[in-house]
Amino acid sequence: MAERVAVVSGAARGIGAAVAKRLASDGLAVGVLDLDAASCADTVSAITDAGGNAVALGADVANEESVAAAVTQLEAELGAPTIVVNNAGILRDNLLFKMSVEDWDSVLGVHLRGAFLLTRAVQKYMVEQKFGRIVNMSSTSALGNRGQANYAAAKAGMQGFTKTLAFELGKFGVTANAIAPGFIVTDMTAATAERVGMPFDDFQKANAAQIPVQRVGRPEDIAHTASFLVSEGAGFVSGQVIYVAGGPRD
Ligand code: NAP
Repeated sequence: MAERVAVVSGAARGIGAAVAKRLASDGLAVGVLDLDAASCADTVSAITDAGGNAVALGADVANEESVAAAVTQLEAELGAPTIVVNNAGILRDNLLFKMSVEDWDSVLGVHLRGAFLLTRAVQKYMVEQKFGRIVNMSSTSALGNRGQANYAAAKAGMQGFTKTLAFELGKFGVTANAIAPGFIVTDMTAATAERVGMPFDDFQKANAAQIPVQRVGRPEDIAHTASFLVSEGAGFVSGQVIYVAGGPRD
């Protein structure tokens, strides 16, 4: 079988970087997509140094032309992608009365519009090849979280988007699933600690105490789940939301 090609958005760092590295070690060629191609260099070299196949793609997932250009580049350099992990994300937390329209639009734009644009751009290859795997990054915040009206709406939207793709694309051999991470140690949670004025170590300890398995999550915990969902053997798992949060959160 020809090497399958995946594209992972927001893969310069954090969860996306761990997912990209894991999929490459599973034997996939990987398009490492982030806002700035130069910022993808560490992820790409970690993959190629380990003998894998990867290319850096600079694109804003919320911009239609930018996404189309990145997918065209990926097809030319590694082949047609049939696996997509919509992971790019931003936070603009604020209580509703202080939330600006820009805070709302930018969060919905990156998470939801971004996932829509990238998935729409690659679905034709999946349909052609009668194989596809779509993984969308949701969050436990989809269940509601103080100060995150924009983010919670986007992450709940990711779940509805996922289930709809599962219905529409199943007959083409395409599965769509969402991962809803809990607290994962990345720059994103570090920024939240800073925002609430807590040292990151203390913030992690406080969160771990609330989690049934009594630890915070690592990007590799999410990468492991993504690896399963995109695997050939997971073809009968579709339209699901897997909470990877050290306990039940749904
Ligand atoms: P992160 O460390 O902040 O990484 C997010 C990446 O997305 C960054 O490299 C960022 O690029 C990129 N990105 C932002 N806007 C983009 C755009 N318009 N186009 C392309 N790339 C863009 O965050 P993370 O913690 O790894 O989170 C990854 C995903 O998991 C997000 O969807 C997040 O909402 C979700 N999640 C995280 C947690 C957690 O606890 N960490 C929990 C639940 C869900 P720049 O660096 O250039 O901004």
